[in-house]
Amino acid sequence: MRRAWLILGLLLAPAMAWGNLTAEDRETQALEAKVADDPRAALKEAADWHERAIRAADRAAQLKALRLRIMALSQLEDTHAMSTAADAALPLARELKSAQAECEFLTVKGYKLSSEGKFVESQRVYDQALAVAEAAGLKRAAHGVLLAKAFDLSLMGRDADALELLSKAHQAFTDLGDAVNARLTLAAIGNAYFHERSSVEDLRKAASYYERAVSPDAERTRRHELATSYANLGAVHQRLKDFPKSRKYLDRAEALYRALGDPIGQAFAHYRLGLVANEEKKWLEALVELDKALAAFAASGESTMQFNVQRARAAALAELDRKRESLDALHAVETIAEKSDSAWIKANALSSAAETYARLGEYDRAYKAQRALRDADQALARESREKDEKEIKARFDIKQKESENALLRARQQESDARRLVLVLTIALLLVLLGGLSWYIWRQRQQNRRFADLALRDDLTGLPNRRSIIEFARGQYHQALTHQQKLVIALIDIDHFKPINDEHGHAVGDKVLTAFATLCQQQLRSNDRLGRYGGEEFMLVMPGSDIAQAPQVFTRLRLAMRQLDVEGWSASHQLTFSMGAADLNTPGEDLDAIIKRADEALYRAKQGGRDRHETG
Ligand code: GH3
Ligand code: MG
Ligand code: MG
Repeated sequence: MRRAWLILGLLLAPAMAWGNLTAEDRETQALEAKVADDPRAALKEAADWHERAIRAADRAAQLKALRLRIMALSQLEDTHAMSTAADAALPLARELKSAQAECEFLTVKGYKLSSEGKFVESQRVYDQALAVAEAAGLKRAAHGVLLAKAFDLSLMGRDADALELLSKAHQAFTDLGDAVNARLTLAAIGNAYFHERSSVEDLRKAASYYERAVSPDAERTRRHELATSYANLGAVHQRLKDFPKSRKYLDRAEALYRALGDPIGQAFAHYRLGLVANEEKKWLEALVELDKALAAFAASGESTMQFNVQRARAAALAELDRKRESLDALHAVETIAEKSDSAWIKANALSSAAETYARLGEYDRAYKAQRALRDADQALARESREKDEKEIKARFDIKQKESENALLRARQQESDARRLVLVLTIALLLVLLGGLSWYIWRQRQQNRRFADLALRDDLTGLPNRRSIIEFARGQYHQALTHQQKLVIALIDIDHFKPINDEHGHAVGDKVLTAFATLCQQQLRSNDRLGRYGGEEFMLVMPGSDIAQAPQVFTRLRLAMRQLDVEGWSASHQLTFSMGAADLNTPGEDLDAIIKRADEALYRAKQGGRDRHETG
């Protein structure tokens, strides 16, 4: 997707805040405008420039041509060529002692590494860029790099570290009077609070940061980021079950994306509106939105989103008893899953199949899908275990690098004061880096949003099966490494089927949602609850002792008294059974612990339900 407006907006807006452009700055801006209008023409122009500069043996002009080339490649989203060019240009930037260019090229290099998942290396390169910027007193450039770093940290799940960097950057942009970047940083802080496992408190924080980011006169610049913030606000409020607000913001996002000619953004808003309508049981309305989203995602060939939309459609159509169409949607889901080699896509397809078939009353097929899901989950577990091992190593390496860098930086701070005067004169040059890093930032934000969608259960808002197992796996490794305790419990609602049978599926859904909400309110912030299957949940309690399991059971059991679902008489007392197991035998793998919890759950059921057992 072309985002020509983006670089232009990024580059011009902060520069205008400074006013007083030199002739040289104007020239740079003219180039940037060229990139924004037509990156291919700019690419060609950069080549001509380069040729001429070489003939004239003008090194400075050569460097400028290379910067233009890299900007154009970034606009064209050609990551590979962009990073090759940046690598090649790096020695020239150093030779000419252009800290700005060096910092830009290093940031591109870091971005390339990070997009390959090589976070250790990317952090190292970003730190180099940071050191260059700081040594030259390029404050805004330095903060641009911090933002890129923060993004990697949040991708690695280190949200607290990411937040620290972002707060710093926000303060710095505010101090520099750069309202635009300050506002965008607020949106980034919102992003750090908003992820698939955010607590209600974090969701509220995310909402408040996004709200600051969209006010008061945010409409004038960086309207794409604004639209993204609206869309995120819509998603946050959906999670907070404030549907009117969610709709309000999603409508705004949709309108803004439309004005900007961004069909994918629009489709994203429609998809979200569809999910909200599904949650409100407005199935027909959901279908209208989902169909719009589907058309756009199909046209762009975005298969992950087609997959998500079709899952939501299959569910809505099943609710409407439009069996034929529901099965068609499910078929589309399965086709995408077959072509994909991602284990989680396959697992999610099976979980959709199990749910849809169950809703359509095809219990045979639902059961088959559920069984296949177990196998798929094992494949997924293997995949995620390998990934985990790599990640743990990466985190360890980064920690070491960070302490080395802290030393280096402490030395640099001594000369900081002297550079203050320099900063003001060079400030205008920093605009370019801001442009690049924000461009990169947004791309990643989008990837993350897609990933986020795949991890949450639409009905309850809890982590879905894949996500809770992944969390359990992470905690399992953590507990092994640091010799900490860990309890895993499986919870299954008792006699749930009769609720569906007697009061209807919609009431059953409400009971499930209310159950999930009540349980979640009872948990410590470290504990995490996920939807493991239809009416079965997994509770992961890091640092807990198995001896605490009875208390947890009692607490949750008590909380059920508050369960109040419309259409389901208050005289009913919802009960559940729980089986818990802990990490106690060295060498026992996670699957074995889960199996013990499952067996304990089975015993609790056999023993009469409304009770717990430990395994
Ligand atoms: P037990 O005490 O042995 O656990 O009995 P049960 O009725 O709870 O267990 P069973 O596994 O027989 O039935 C589970 C039911 O949950 C069957 C299925 O239709 C229903 N279910 C699964 N997912 C959903 C859902 O998302 N919404 C609704 N409303 N029902 C669901
Ligand atoms: Mg049950
Ligand atoms: Mg069950």
